Order: sequence, then structure tokens, then C-alpha cells
Amino acid sequence: MCASPNSSRAGAWRCVRRKRLPKRRKRSPHEPIRRCAACRRAAPKHDLLRFARCPQSRRVVFDPYQRLLGRGAYLCPNAECFRLAIKRKSLERALKTKVDASLLDAALAYLSQGMR
Ligand SMILES: [Zn+2]
Repeated sequence: MCASPNSSRAGAWRCVRRKRLPKRRKRSPHEPIRRCAACRRAAPKHDLLRFARCPQSRRVVFDPYQRLLGRGAYLCPNAECFRLAIKRKSLERALKTKVDASLLDAALAYLSQGMR
């Protein structure tokens, strides 16, 4: 369990006293919604995993930080959707190019690391 009382984030206490938020861009009231390429479920963009197709090389890469340029496709962060995506070639269809199976393996590995 991770409910340890002496958390390493002791500095977080100081945040409570800050008077005003620093100048920050206004957050949009709703996050952009994207659709999972495998199960078609709609979810906020940041709840999904992004894959981007590089505009130059047309190679598809995993984009965990959702910052890469190019056409993107999204998958739910669960193994079931990955399996579905491989079976139905959902990403290949969404991105209109070949997708290496190892790409999904890498993303799946990232996923299992993130879910501790
Ligand atoms: Zn899905």
C-alpha cells in the first residue's frame, strides 16, 4: 500500500499558503474529447493514449505526452483495447498507414509500468 504518512512531498504544505495562482492560461471548461480507435468509446483526450504519425516519415510512434505533430489516433489505456486494436488493425485504419506490432507492445509495456 502507498498510504505512508511520511510522504516525500512535505513541501506540498507550502502550496496551501499561496495567495494567488500565477498567471496562467484559462483552462477550457471541458477537455477535448477523443475517441478510442478500438472500442469507439469517447473520453477526455488525456485519459487516452495517443499515437502520432510523423508527417515526414509517415512512421507511427507512441506519443505518451501527446505533443508530437502529425495525425493522431487514440486508444484507451487498457490491454483489452490494445488487443482489439491489433486484431482489427484499428490504428492502421485510423492513421491510414502501416503500424508496427512492436509499437503496440512498447505502448503496452509503458502502460503496465504506469499502473503500479
Ligand atoms: Zn477503447
